[in-house]
Amino acid sequence: MADLLNVDDTLNRILQQIHPLSTEETPIAEALGRVLAQDIVAPIDLPPFANSSMDGYAVRAEDVTGAGHGQPVRLAVKFDIRAGDMPIGAVGPHEAARIMTGAPLPEGADAVVPVEQTDDQWRSDGHARLPETVAIYRHARRGDNVRPSGEDIRAGETVLQAGTALRPQDIGVLVSLGQGRVPVVRQPRVVILATGDELVDVGEPLGPGQIRNSNSYVLAGLVAENGGIPIRLPTARDSLDDVRRCFRAALDQQPDLIISSAGVSVGTHDVVRDVVQELGEVMMWRVNLRPGKPLAFGQVGGVPFFGLPGNPVSAMVTFDVFVRPALAVLSGRQDHAAPLVHALTGEPIRSDGRRSYLRVRLSDENGQLIARLTGTQSSGALLSMVQADGLLIVPEGVTDVPAGTRLSVRLLRPVNRPGSR
Ligand code: AMP
Ligand code: MG
Repeated sequence: MADLLNVDDTLNRILQQIHPLSTEETPIAEALGRVLAQDIVAPIDLPPFANSSMDGYAVRAEDVTGAGHGQPVRLAVKFDIRAGDMPIGAVGPHEAARIMTGAPLPEGADAVVPVEQTDDQWRSDGHARLPETVAIYRHARRGDNVRPSGEDIRAGETVLQAGTALRPQDIGVLVSLGQGRVPVVRQPRVVILATGDELVDVGEPLGPGQIRNSNSYVLAGLVAENGGIPIRLPTARDSLDDVRRCFRAALDQQPDLIISSAGVSVGTHDVVRDVVQELGEVMMWRVNLRPGKPLAFGQVGGVPFFGLPGNPVSAMVTFDVFVRPALAVLSGRQDHAAPLVHALTGEPIRSDGRRSYLRVRLSDENGQLIARLTGTQSSGALLSMVQADGLLIVPEGVTDVPAGTRLSVRLLRPVNRPGSR
């Protein structure tokens, strides 16, 4: 095992070779999931003006301090303010203005009394006419039911940071600030290659000795989930010529990253590394993890290249450990931490001393998260990835894991953590 590379060192060395892509602008309507290239500083206050948070009456708080159910205060109603209107006057002593939610607070007023606390709530004319007076049944303090300008955001405040992958609420803030176009990092174009004489595509009949190329689709999904643009190319046969042809076709796509699966082990037909040496360079090969040992990294025609193992689970695990962080760096994302929880092992586990990613189901037992293996840990068993809640990480150097050991689990789907159920 001495010749196997350390997982963390390998990842660090890989990330040193990867640099964020250039910046472009995107219309805000297409910005979901894109990564901000610059900090966003608010040019204006939000809300831009003090406004009412209720339908009711804008008043001067001092006029209604004594109001109560037994002793209503009657005020003269001067005008009406709807959302989108500007007040046509000011509210003087013993005066009020009818106001709707979101409408600007008129000068002179400093509080809003909700309509439910006035006699206006019993009106039968559908509020068509403005009443001449209104009875206030409840006292109000200054600022009650008023949203001051800048309550949400202050002009000059940094509201979003470069490296943020935009969520719907982030887009809402940008729209509120009038940002119709946003500076984002270009999305990585990722070519996905598959190699293997045994592979057929999903629509083709399965001949003897053949299996379907699932990796290309899984990897395309993982690329898309991580903000990249996947470009799947047709499968290469296990020959130098065909693999060479495929890598050339990959470069024609002007990719930012090339991922292949299979053909990087030590089998006689594993020619991917040979072709990569010819067209570029293999910088790292064979890492101390399980599944996924044969992982290769290098460059082809100057484009960073990952040679993932062919086994479907190995391909997914090595994607998660190495390719996902590389994609995060390419797309300018601030952090690439995978969601981890701690769990106690529910059974004794033997490992071979490599860093191991074991598929587990998680259950909450008396407030404690317990991880149990999903049955077969074969690196060819893709259904185990469907059924698993997460990947239990057994550190390198560990061979015996007694039941009840606390270890990290990389979540594959959201689970309720103990205490939150
Ligand atoms: P290899 O890395 O070429 O030794 O392949 C390891 C295993 O992964 C073999 O059982 C292959 O049949 C399988 N395999 C290789 N490529 C794919 C693929 N694209 N989709 C599904 N399984 C694959
Ligand atoms: Mg093969």
